[in-house]
Amino acid sequence: MNHIELQHLSKSYDQSSFAVEDVTVSIEQGEFFILVGPSGCGKSTMLRMIAGLEKISAGKLYIDHQLANHLLPSQRNLSMVFQNYALYPHLNVEENILFGLKVRKIKKTVQRQRCEEAAALLGLTDYLKRKPRELSGGQRQRVALARAVVSEAPICLMDEPLSNLDAKLRGQMRTEIRQLQRKLGITMIYVTHDQVEAMTMGDRIMVMKDGKVQQVGTPLEIYNKP
Ligand code: ADP
Ligand code: ADP
Repeated sequence: MNHIELQHLSKSYDQSSFAVEDVTVSIEQGEFFILVGPSGCGKSTMLRMIAGLEKISAGKLYIDHQLANHLLPSQRNLSMVFQNYALYPHLNVEENILFGLKVRKIKKTVQRQRCEEAAALLGLTDYLKRKPRELSGGQRQRVALARAVVSEAPICLMDEPLSNLDAKLRGQMRTEIRQLQRKLGITMIYVTHDQVEAMTMGDRIMVMKDGKVQQVGTPLEIYNKP
């Protein structure tokens, strides 16, 4: 249900260079897959191509074994969590969490139930009527996670979701996200430039440099070579 395959995927913003060049990898159902590498190496571009927010220049993207190059973002059955949380400042927590379901015209009773469950899961039950500006950074991040949870999408894409949090909270959220992903059984593609995140969270890690794949392997294979 939530398998992703990239075949020779490339992206060029101009004619002369590649932001992503010839990436081939198969991401398994339920896998926590990490894209790691320095700023500018093409991580966000990769994620945005998978999400359908960026046109693919060459190569093929398969979602659930179906060619997905030309699917709209809404047809890809995935949720996305951004670095800046992308919350609506004028909406309260509950409205932010349910925004996507409203757009999809999901039944009110179903909306309410999913919101309750997600809020309980993420410790937001007492904050549903607050506005984003009345929350801490960690709570805002949890709202963004809750929004991904209620979508019930089998694939989740995260782009540096913890980089605006302080070190202590970052450690805590690493564990929370990992537990959430296991509990929901979803496939995760997670972008970070932080080696500690890559090492502690990933089932498998893809190391990128200058738009190309340098290595793909388990944390042990990537960071603990004898
Ligand atoms: P990362 O997420 O690893 O920091 P990006 O995917 O954002 O890397 O960027 C990869 C390369 O593509 C960089 O050289 C960046 O300047 C370039 N790039 C990214 N987005 C655009 C864009 N919209 N237009 C032109 N160049 C871009
Ligand atoms: P990050 O490295 O955290 O992904 P950036 O500041 O590199 O953030 O990019 C922020 C936004 O600007 C992204 O949407 C990216 O696609 C775009 N962008 C990045 N580099 C360029 C560029 N050279 N030209 C145009 N847009 C770019």
